[in-house]
Amino acid sequence: MSGLVNDKVVVITGAARGIGAGIAADLAENGARVVIADLNLDSAQQTASKISSAGGSAVAIAVDVSSRSSVRALIDETVSRFGRLDVMFNNAGISQTCPFMEVTDEDFDRIMAINGRGVLIGTQEAARQMVAQGDGGKIVNTASIAGKQGYPLFAHYCASKFAVVAITQAAARALAEHKITVNCFGPGVVKTELWEQLDREFIERGLTEKPEQAINDFSQSILLGRVSLPKDIAGVTTFLASQASDYVTGQTIMVDGGMVLI
Ligand code: NAD
Repeated sequence: MSGLVNDKVVVITGAARGIGAGIAADLAENGARVVIADLNLDSAQQTASKISSAGGSAVAIAVDVSSRSSVRALIDETVSRFGRLDVMFNNAGISQTCPFMEVTDEDFDRIMAINGRGVLIGTQEAARQMVAQGDGGKIVNTASIAGKQGYPLFAHYCASKFAVVAITQAAARALAEHKITVNCFGPGVVKTELWEQLDREFIERGLTEKPEQAINDFSQSILLGRVSLPKDIAGVTTFLASQASDYVTGQTIMVDGGMVLI
């Protein structure tokens, strides 16, 4: 396969399923060698096999993005298999539906450890490798509409996604001298297992009555009139991994069908 990211070595965290799997499939279709990095190794291996069966280049490696030693091991293994790292996607993330006044210290810390600290660690450890290589690189982080607006049922998740935007801006400024660009993209409502979980939590908390009511209610303000699928995101993510985005850094590109206009 050949295309926009030919032969680039790209690590995508949280790529066993959902948005990460969509990002990886499109990159592989465009010629990249992709590493499907996930907490769930079995599922990551299945995703890698699917990409390989379709003619792409993919391997699976286990990682816990909240652990620095685990992320270091992921990058070391990537470099030992492929010789280098060109692009790092810090995409793994978790969410939880919880009314503002009920968010506990533990809820906050759990989400921040993965969504916030995980992006800090992934950015730093990828950058360390890229600086050593000496010829630049690209880091792309998964933000959200929740990185631009606070929502009362997702306060801690929003805090973690604002953190993603902040880390992206700070890292862009810190790493530009090494020709490393750092950007993030902001999905809106993407139909993945993450939203299936949120939908269940809405029902359990008595906030909605029937399946899919939460996702449908939340989607009323989408200008383009429908929720998205991971493939709707992939045009922007492959762009951010490609040479076409070489003069873009520190940005958050919204890919939300027009939910947040800032
Ligand atoms: P998902 O739950 O379908 O997939 C997330 C993947 O991340 C899973 O494979 C899971 O095993 C993995 N993961 C979880 N914790 C991990 C850890 N500590 N280390 C490594 N891997 C881990 O979710 P998704 O909808 O594909 O979301 C992907 C990203 O997009 C997340 O950062 C999420 O916050 C963000 N996002 C999602 C939506 C949406 O509507 N689905 C909207 C905006 C942003």
